[in-house]
Amino acid sequence: MNFSRQRLRRTLIAFSAVGALVATPTAFAWSHLGHWLVGDLAQPLLTPAAQQQVAQLLQGEPVPTLAGVASWADELRGSDSDLARKTSKWHYVDLDPERCDYQPPRDCPGGNCVIAAIDAQRQILADTAQPPEARRDALKFLVHFIGDVHQPLHAGARQMSEGGDDAGGNKYQVSLRTAVAPEGRGARRQVAGGPIPTNLHTVWDYYELESAILSPEKYATQLRQGGMPPVAPEALGSPADWAVESCKGIGAQGLYPRGEDGEWQHKLGGAYLDAKRPYAEARVRLAAARLAAVLNQALK
Ligand SMILES: [Zn+2]
Repeated sequence: MNFSRQRLRRTLIAFSAVGALVATPTAFAWSHLGHWLVGDLAQPLLTPAAQQQVAQLLQGEPVPTLAGVASWADELRGSDSDLARKTSKWHYVDLDPERCDYQPPRDCPGGNCVIAAIDAQRQILADTAQPPEARRDALKFLVHFIGDVHQPLHAGARQMSEGGDDAGGNKYQVSLRTAVAPEGRGARRQVAGGPIPTNLHTVWDYYELESAILSPEKYATQLRQGGMPPVAPEALGSPADWAVESCKGIGAQGLYPRGEDGEWQHKLGGAYLDAKRPYAEARVRLAAARLAAVLNQALK
């Protein structure tokens, strides 16, 4: 289950390591927009104490806000290829698609998965004896990874009985009709105006939110107006709980599209994107509320 996605990721990282100017592959995370929204929605939910420490830790960042640093962990591929390589498995976890249970030795060997990464970075951030640089990076990692673990296809895939290992939708090919400009590799392969050749993972990382066709600021305002889920400390749960929830959402929300004939559908368009967007937005809201709760706890 792991192998193919890891190999894909290694290939992608190898690309950036040699400095090839390929368009950024998006098989790593919510798009820039998704991560930005998580950070922006979380920021006003911080306590004054957390707010102040976040500002202090992010001093010197080009955009010193949670939204401003939310994609840093993805951008490492261009800025620090060693760190990018070391942390490449921290963006996801491949839970067993049948059970969606978490067994660390099987699902997170060496602590290299999004669940263990969130736990580890949370501890570093909360530990004031750590060097400020380590705590700053921990903060930036947390903003990103708490977003990632809420992207359902970062925690699971289609059940094996339904088609087998497809690396979180990376190998489920999709021909997508949408008004959204294609990103990355899709951009070079699209015949002008025609469907975009992509895969289901990228549909969820990128197209699902982008196809709302809203500016990030307007989108954040709209999502806030819809109400942020309250997250009481005792109801926060653990990163493992969030990953299990993501994994279960894949089946429960019908992320893998079937046609009326019950067959798997590989041609998608606005109808699919519109139908699933409320769920994607709910995951973003939840990620933001939980991120704020984690930071409020770590930065008392
Ligand atoms: Zn990521």
